[in-house]
Amino acid sequence: MNRRSQGRDALVDQVAIVTGASSGIGAGAAVVLVARRLDRLEGVARAIAALGGRALAIPTDVTDRAAVQVMVQRTIDAFGRIDILVNNAGVMLLAPIRKREVDEWDRMVDLNVKGLLYCVAAVLPHMLEGGAGHVVNVGSVAGRRPFFGGAVYAATKFAVRALSAGLRLELAPHENIRVVDIQPGVVDTELGSHVTDQEMREGFARVWGNKKKLDAEDVAHAVAWVVTRPAHVNVNEILIRPTAQET
Ligand code: NDP
Repeated sequence: MNRRSQGRDALVDQVAIVTGASSGIGAGAAVVLVARRLDRLEGVARAIAALGGRALAIPTDVTDRAAVQVMVQRTIDAFGRIDILVNNAGVMLLAPIRKREVDEWDRMVDLNVKGLLYCVAAVLPHMLEGGAGHVVNVGSVAGRRPFFGGAVYAATKFAVRALSAGLRLELAPHENIRVVDIQPGVVDTELGSHVTDQEMREGFARVWGNKKKLDAEDVAHAVAWVVTRPAHVNVNEILIRPTAQET
């Protein structure tokens, strides 16, 4: 494998784990597909195989630290290495703070922050051993500015941004492990369907009903571009909004 080569060829022989690969952004590109819904993962794996790619579905709840270890070991058993980790699994549960949806706060912190860290912890020994790696964290424009009803979600994405910066400064110069924070604006996925708060759902539908959101592929293309740069190039952040998005 020639790490200096650019474009899709640069991915030949590389092994990527993509979390949150059963729907939305994560379904655009992958090799080891991780999420909880096996039927959806198998559908993505079949689509990749139909295009000539190799994909392995490993159903995993990434908030379960032991399960993440098992998933990474299964990846090593199957492919012998891990070059890329795409930390994409995430949940956005919007509600005004005054409603004190503490269980939802827990779910967001557990997945968006702790789940991401569990994946980093599990892949890191293999990347260190291999002498290279690429950690792609899917943050959000919310990691740059909170919004009404999204205080805790934004806090988790601020955390993703802070972690990405901290990981990069330790791992890129010293261990040849690159780190990037991809920060999408509004993307047309299942993310909003988990919001239970009626006020927030209606507000979002009012603002976005007729506007063109990003497609999942728009974000997947950004990820593909990042991971195909030459080895000396570490793209640190990409902020990508739909043209119609104001803030
Ligand atoms: P989706 O809801 O479509 O996808 C979320 C993915 O995460 C699914 O594959 C889901 O699969 C998986 N997932 C959820 N919980 C877990 C878990 N406990 N363990 C493993 N996998 C899990 O949303 P998106 O594709 O939009 O979201 C992907 C990322 O993009 C998230 O981090 C999100 O915060 C971020 N983002 C999205 C934006 C948007 O507007 N859509 C904007 C900015 C950032 P399953 O349920 O099968 O486990």
